[in-house]
Formats: sequence, structure tokens, C-alpha cells
Amino acid sequence: MQKETIAIHAGYDNKEGFGTMSVPITQTTAYAFRDSEHAANLFALKELGPIYTRLTNPTTDVLEKRFAQLEGGAAAICVASGQSAIFYAIANVAEAGDNIIISDKLYGGAVTLLTHTIKRFGITAKVFKSADASNLEELIDDKTKAIFFESLSNPQIAITDVEKVVSIAQKHGVLTVCDNTVATAALFNPIKWGVDVVVHSTSKYTNGQGSAIGGIVVERDGLAEFFKANSKRYYHFVQPDASYHGLVYVDVPLPNFCLRIRLNLLRDIGAAQSPFNSWLLIQGLETLAIRMDKVSDNTLEIAKFLEAHPKVKSVSYPGLSSSKEHERAKKYFKEGKASGLVSFEAQSYEEAKKIIDSAKLFSVVVNIGDSKSLIVHPASTTHSQIPADELVKAGINPATVRLSIGLEDPKDLIADLTQALA
Ligand SMILES: *Cc1c(COP(=O)(O)O)cnc(C)c1O
Repeated sequence: MQKETIAIHAGYDNKEGFGTMSVPITQTTAYAFRDSEHAANLFALKELGPIYTRLTNPTTDVLEKRFAQLEGGAAAICVASGQSAIFYAIANVAEAGDNIIISDKLYGGAVTLLTHTIKRFGITAKVFKSADASNLEELIDDKTKAIFFESLSNPQIAITDVEKVVSIAQKHGVLTVCDNTVATAALFNPIKWGVDVVVHSTSKYTNGQGSAIGGIVVERDGLAEFFKANSKRYYHFVQPDASYHGLVYVDVPLPNFCLRIRLNLLRDIGAAQSPFNSWLLIQGLETLAIRMDKVSDNTLEIAKFLEAHPKVKSVSYPGLSSSKEHERAKKYFKEGKASGLVSFEAQSYEEAKKIIDSAKLFSVVVNIGDSKSLIVHPASTTHSQIPADELVKAGINPATVRLSIGLEDPKDLIADLTQALA
């Protein structure tokens, strides 16, 4: 089935229940068991079914199935936010004494989570260069549990050399985790390029209207074999889990990675997605492919306008044929479409702030992936705590302005930018 069809039909059979065309919201905390044996079977995984919404929920289940199929994965698990998706994906394999290797170009929240917060749990992060993965192999050791990167990074708008990262990771039997939030499941599918685990902040393009926070983790088929082949590194999956009556994950005929997140991390830490948010995300997913086509086309038009503007020093957008990322965009992304983030360098810090304050149609918001176009000045907002020299290293110039292009008519957006730049 094609993606557009999967996004509308997968995971839900309208012949069940009342035949509702819209996936129903199962707004409940818990579920009644038929009898004590039914309850015991559910807890023992002899029978599958809902127990408590912290663990599973029928509405969330539809989104998980749909999303897994869209990404070409074996299973998915929804969590409360993109941040918790990243944390669970890492905490599912790493513990005190272990390390992970992260890209040098990441979302700010991922940087603080993976370099500062998880250090408090005894997990350290080393940084690799995502543009060419030139220093990745030398960073891998016996305690390395995952390599984490973004396919299309926010806010630097850079594309990782996915093929090279995957080949190095496979050589050493290390799990790859790719944040595919900005590229989206409609334009790029990391699993098809050999990535093991994909995470998303579904709050962004999946939702598409800035109306709900959510996260999802997707795993590729065949991870049980991967864990068995690399059992020293991933012993949690081959040894009995004392917290789940001695369950051995690789012996369970269910996709292992999401199963362990559900039975351990969701059970104990509990960043569960609300059924209502799952429902909102299901609505968003139905139009994801069509929106990403339009958003990418709009953004390319605006990037071309900016490139030709005398007051703009440079433009960063992989969809532009002048971009050094252009070949990579064409290689990985559907028809070279490069999503909705574009940044440009104004003539100065002051000029950048003036542009932001003069824009009328663009809202000054630190979000991305909304149907409404957004504008932000990273140096004075999201990245204001970072010293100037580190800012440049993170790919942010003091005069950088970042746009998240929405679904308005690009003529109106260009008119607004024209007057803001005047
Ligand atoms: C927003 C974002 C996140 C965090 O997601 P939340 O849903 O806000 O927790 C993670 N990664 C990327 C690339 C993002 O843009």
C-alpha cells in the first residue's frame, strides 16, 4: 500500500464496534477483565489486550500501527512527547556506566537531555560530526549503546550522512536511533536505509496544526536477531527481566524494542500519551503526505525569494540547488522535497530582530511544523544562553533568522517578508 493510503486506513477496521468512520477516542483509564483468568493471561502476555491506559489504549494503538507501517517498521509505541520518545529510546538500551554517541547537529532539547540530564543517570554522550561521520568509528567502544542523530536537523537544517552512519554502526553492532521529526515519515524513512529505531516529536508535522504534544518510537523488523547477535552489548534483551517475572525479550514473538519500553519504561516512568492527543494525531496523519508536499513547495519558493534579496547574506535550505546539502536531499528525500524549515542570515543581529518585529503574518514562535508560518531569532531566544563562539559551532549566527513555513499562500508570505526586510 502507498503511504497516503496507509495514513488513512492502517490499524483500524470500521467493521468492528459501531462502524464509526472516525477512529473512536477511548477516553478511559482502565479496562474491565472478563474474569480472573483473563486478567492473569493479559499480565502474562498469553493474551494481548488493554489493561491500563498508561500501558496501552485502543486509540493510541491505531496510531501506533498506522505510524509503524508508514515508517516501514515492525512496531511503534506512542509516548507523551518527542523528548520522552528520545529518552525512552536511549534508556531502553543504556544505563549507568554506558555511553552513547550523538550528532553535533541536534534539537536544543535533545542536546540538554542527552548531554546533561542523562549524565545524572551515569550515561555519557560523545559527539560525532554528522556531515561526514568522519570521527564516528573511533568513538565506539564496548560500552557504546546507541548512535543518535537527526535525519534533517532542527535548527541547523543539515542532513546527516545516514548511509555512512549506518554502515559504521552495523560493522560494530551498535544500535542507530534517528530523530525523523523534521523530514517526516512522508518524505523520508530511515528504516529503509538500515536505521534500527526511529523517533519523532509528533507535536510538529504529524499533528500539523500545533494542537497537541506527542512522541513516538518505531523499530525495524528483526531487532531480536540483532540483540542475539550482539548479546554482550544488549544483554538486557537476552537475559531474564527480574522486573517482569523473568521474561526474556528475544523469546517473545513481538517486536522487542517497543515491548521493553512498554513493559519497563512506560510502566515505571509513565510518560503515556493521552488518548485524545492520539486522536488529534490520527487526524493530522491523514493529511501528512499532502501537507509535506505543499509545505516543501512553499518553502522552496520562499528560499528562492530570500536568496535573490539584496539584504539577505545567505540562505540555508537543502531544497535549493545552490545548497551544499542539495545532493543529499535528492538522494534521501521524496523527490528532493526538504520540508518546511529555512533559515537566512540578515545583515546584523539588530537587523534580524527588526525583521522579526516587522513581520505581520509570521508569528514569533519557537515551534515548527504548524500550518501557520512561524519566525524566530535563535540568538536572542532559543540559543540566548549559549556563548557566541559556541553558537557559531552549533551552526547559529547572531544574525540568523529561522522560518517554519506553513500552508498559507506563498505570495502572501513573500509580501510579508518583503515589507519586513525593507
Ligand atoms: C520538537 C522536537 C523534539 C522534542 O519534541 P516535543 O514533542 O516538543 O517534546 C525533538 N526533536 C526534534 C527534532 C524536535 O523538533
